[in-house]
Amino acid sequence: MSFADDRASMTTDTTTSPAAPYWHAHEAVDVVYQLDSDIAVGLSQAEVEQRRTVHGANELPLEEVRTVWQLLAAQFTSPLIAILLVAMVVTALIGEYTDSVVIAVVLIINASIGYFQESRAERAVHALMELASPQAIVIRDSREQVVAARDLVPGDIVRLTSGDRVPADLRLVRTTTLDIDESMLTGESEPIRKSTDPVAESAIVADRFGMAYFGATVVSGRATGIAVATGLNTQLGKIADSIRTQARPTTPLQRRMKGFANRIAVVVLGATGITFAAGIALGESPSSMFLIAVALAVAVVPEGLPVALTVALALGVRRMSQRNVVIRALLAVETLGSTNVIGSDKTGTLTENRMTAVELWTADGTYTLRGDWFDVPPSDVAFIETLRSAAASSEAAIEVVDAEIAGRRGEATDVALLEAAYRHQIASAEPSRDPGLLALVPFESQRQYAYAIVDEDGPVLRAKGAPERLVGMASSSHRDVVLQAADDMARRGLRVLAMAQRKLDTTADEIDPVAPPEPSGLTVTGLIGLQDPPRDGVKESIDRCRDAQLRVIMITGDHAATAQAIAAELGIGADEPVACNGRELEEMSDEQLESVVGQIDVFARVTPEHKLRVVRALQAHGLVVAVTGDGVNDGPALKAADIGVAMGRSGTDVAREASDMVLTDDNFVSIAAAVEEGRVVFDNVRKVTYFLLSTGFAAIVAIVSAMAAGLPLPYVPAALLWLNVVTNGVQDVALAFDPGEPDVLQRPPRHRDEPIVPWLLWERAALCGTAMAVGSLWIYTWAIDAGYSQPVQRGAALTTLVVAMAVHAYNARSERRSILRTGIVGNRLLLASTIAALLIHLTAMSWGPMQFVLQIAPVPAQAWTRILAVAAAIIVVSEAHKLVRSRGWR
Ligand code: ADP
Ligand code: MG
Repeated sequence: MSFADDRASMTTDTTTSPAAPYWHAHEAVDVVYQLDSDIAVGLSQAEVEQRRTVHGANELPLEEVRTVWQLLAAQFTSPLIAILLVAMVVTALIGEYTDSVVIAVVLIINASIGYFQESRAERAVHALMELASPQAIVIRDSREQVVAARDLVPGDIVRLTSGDRVPADLRLVRTTTLDIDESMLTGESEPIRKSTDPVAESAIVADRFGMAYFGATVVSGRATGIAVATGLNTQLGKIADSIRTQARPTTPLQRRMKGFANRIAVVVLGATGITFAAGIALGESPSSMFLIAVALAVAVVPEGLPVALTVALALGVRRMSQRNVVIRALLAVETLGSTNVIGSDKTGTLTENRMTAVELWTADGTYTLRGDWFDVPPSDVAFIETLRSAAASSEAAIEVVDAEIAGRRGEATDVALLEAAYRHQIASAEPSRDPGLLALVPFESQRQYAYAIVDEDGPVLRAKGAPERLVGMASSSHRDVVLQAADDMARRGLRVLAMAQRKLDTTADEIDPVAPPEPSGLTVTGLIGLQDPPRDGVKESIDRCRDAQLRVIMITGDHAATAQAIAAELGIGADEPVACNGRELEEMSDEQLESVVGQIDVFARVTPEHKLRVVRALQAHGLVVAVTGDGVNDGPALKAADIGVAMGRSGTDVAREASDMVLTDDNFVSIAAAVEEGRVVFDNVRKVTYFLLSTGFAAIVAIVSAMAAGLPLPYVPAALLWLNVVTNGVQDVALAFDPGEPDVLQRPPRHRDEPIVPWLLWERAALCGTAMAVGSLWIYTWAIDAGYSQPVQRGAALTTLVVAMAVHAYNARSERRSILRTGIVGNRLLLASTIAALLIHLTAMSWGPMQFVLQIAPVPAQAWTRILAVAAAIIVVSEAHKLVRSRGWR
């Protein structure tokens, strides 16, 4: 098929796809022409909209989220629900139809609340993840802009940088040492060096050097390309019409909650079995014993727990997003709460990443780079050569309006260097567009340098990068002098770059921009020191981390002395942070690293592989490690860490995809905030569980004691469900909304295996539950003795539990602190729900149909004084336990 045929088919077939499969065989300019675009201008916004209606969104269909039915069915999988189902059948069999209907209603209500909450939480999480979804840099209406990758259309001009996921099938128009990993398409794991040359029509995907395919990753280099296919029309779209999303992982908390539920189920079966057998042996009728068994089962099952757990997790995700953290894996929410170590990048996370060149060193002198526009460069030739090299391989650009710098574009280091050179009138405003530029090898952090080959009456190689790296490729004799000078600058917290150059003995024509010559035999002309101030609030945040027994370490590609100086300024590792160099790390075995990793505060000049080893070494001590990463090769370290943290602004797509959470502001402070929220989530789950456990204890003790004392059953099963699901139900959800206690960041991290409910709280739940049971039975027997009717007796017994639990919710708000400290207004939702719970109960008590269902009647005033006394007693019991067993109220 010829090019002309392609075009014919294009014009007749625009509604489906630009199915021309031979983009790789045509010159890039022809492709641009054929797709009616322009490399410099791009498409217009109107054109983009129009094309989107034809080609649709640039995405592959994801696996269905979860259907309504799956979500509903999931509500019935718990063993606790199974117990309720059995209870429903049993009550129906023994003729207690009201109870069975009530149980059925509760099951339905429970499933609907669960369904509603879960689908809401799921949608919220998805919406947040969208925030972290891939973006693309395009040129539209002559402007470079960032758009969501799904908005791309054929004809869009797209820019690629290392770390990007290729956002559509692209015909490459311009490349600079572009290496792409296409393993997901071709199975070839080695990156391929791309160019813009057309290849034969018959070339297989792996040989199409002029193409970059959707889903491949840019390992290094830069490129501009034109989108030729999007969404399902891409190569990837053709082989996989549905990208499977990860299987929905349950979080450890959810798994542990399941374990907890299973254990409760066993307790229920055991307790009811024994009670039932004992009752029969004592001559009770089987039907009354059945009823008691059902009541017990219903009382112990914490019906509200799954919903409260979902709410707490979803709420955690939301609170974190308000603090600039997008959670990509729900697991992170709780893991954050037990994080022990945060390994943070320096540049951009701890510091502002707003650099200024402040100092220039040459063999002849040290100069302060004041930003004066007309500052005449000193006669020192090396000064000029150094600035020239600093700008030559810069990818930054400066925008000048009325002889003033009005805008800057590009990576901070490059911008600062270019600005210094530009202010001294040594560089143009955008060196990457200089006509004399023969080749450019852009900066990649694993290489630690960049260079350009420029035509200055013959090709000159000009490099900038880490001093050790450039000195290593230099032939000059003053290496030690250079390294000493670099060290001096670094000790003052400056980021130091060396500049080097060499006149090449070839002609300009012989330079191949796709594979330019490697640098060697360089002459280092000078050093530039850049200042990058620490971010506001980071120091305070690190102080707070120390209180919270969270160790903060710095893992950076920068010079050890620079990193150490910044670490000291920020309070990492107290006054004298201990540093370890990438080279030293290289010489250690994994065992050696493990033995020293606890003492090292700063890892400098590290590669992504080193970062991975540091993470593993920390984990070998059983520590829970959060680590940040932004580069192409940070993926393995981010995955290995318990919490992989990626940067939302400066990070790469690859790092984001490997991460558990993304910082939308790249700020260290947000990590610490997320840890705090993670602790709050766990606390709240614990509070709710403890609260519900207390009800369970109260009901069991009361029922068993009543039975042992030969009293009639104080609560029918429906009444216990009322307590568990309705009056407690509104409160436990509100408890999940509890704001964090002021000391969440003043205690050590929770151990990752710490149970949801620790022994201390089992003890307290048993104690408070027993106190409630005693109170409830006290009032019950009083009502019996006073000769009230059975509904009044039962009403008094149930109301005692309802009121006591309403008060107990406030006891549950803190594990250690006194109720006098936590107060009652800190959680307004809880206050409102407590009032609501009491009003609902009062209403039910005097409303005919509910009186019938719960078998209760309004209680007399004398009962109320007793009920309030019991409620007050519950506070006293809980306070006493806190005082004795939690070493004071604090
Ligand atoms: P970090 O992000 O931890 O500061 P980088 O990988 O960005 O580490 O940088 C490592 C080293 O590479 C720096 O100390 C510097 O010497 C060099 N470097 C950084 N940016 C550039 C750049 N744009 N051009 C040349 N060299 C650079
Ligand atoms: Mg960096």
